[in-house]
Amino acid sequence: MRYLYVGATADLAADAAAEPLAAIGESLAAAFPVPVRAVPLPSIDFALDAGRRQYGSIPVLEMLGRARPEDALKLLAVTGRDLFIPVLTFVFGHAQLGGAVGVISLARLRQEFYGLAPNREVFLDRARKEALHETGHLFGLVHCADISCAMSLSTSVRQIDSKRVALCPACEARAGRKPN
Ligand SMILES: [Zn+2]
Ligand SMILES: [Zn+2]
Repeated sequence: MRYLYVGATADLAADAAAEPLAAIGESLAAAFPVPVRAVPLPSIDFALDAGRRQYGSIPVLEMLGRARPEDALKLLAVTGRDLFIPVLTFVFGHAQLGGAVGVISLARLRQEFYGLAPNREVFLDRARKEALHETGHLFGLVHCADISCAMSLSTSVRQIDSKRVALCPACEARAGRKPN
């Protein structure tokens, strides 16, 4: 048996990670044809870019490739750190198409980041959607034209909020095919 592993990186405190990880695990189990398991993951502090005060998602993916359990079909990491790739101001997450490892950041998913009052439901829904999105890429899904589908491209929380916490039927059918 091979698993879809989900885990918080060590920089995310256990008490902060528990609720989003539970929500994410539930959404992934519903959407993908592989059993979901939890795994603790190393810190991503090594990926800090001191000038940007953000963490590079590319070195994080390289580390995850080495850290993943042997029976991992796919591995999604959840971090509290703000991620970037060199050409973009930030990324909500990063995963290679059809690859084995991906990462999402919770840093920009909380209302507090935008100076708004905390909203637990909004935060958890955003985390579920981003997890579905990056894991969808791992299962070979490309960006979807349906703006309510979790696989549509989001570059702002407004776009995340307009999605449902689910894949559209077409993406769901593609994700449900037996992974290679
Ligand atoms: Zn994407
Ligand atoms: Zn779709």
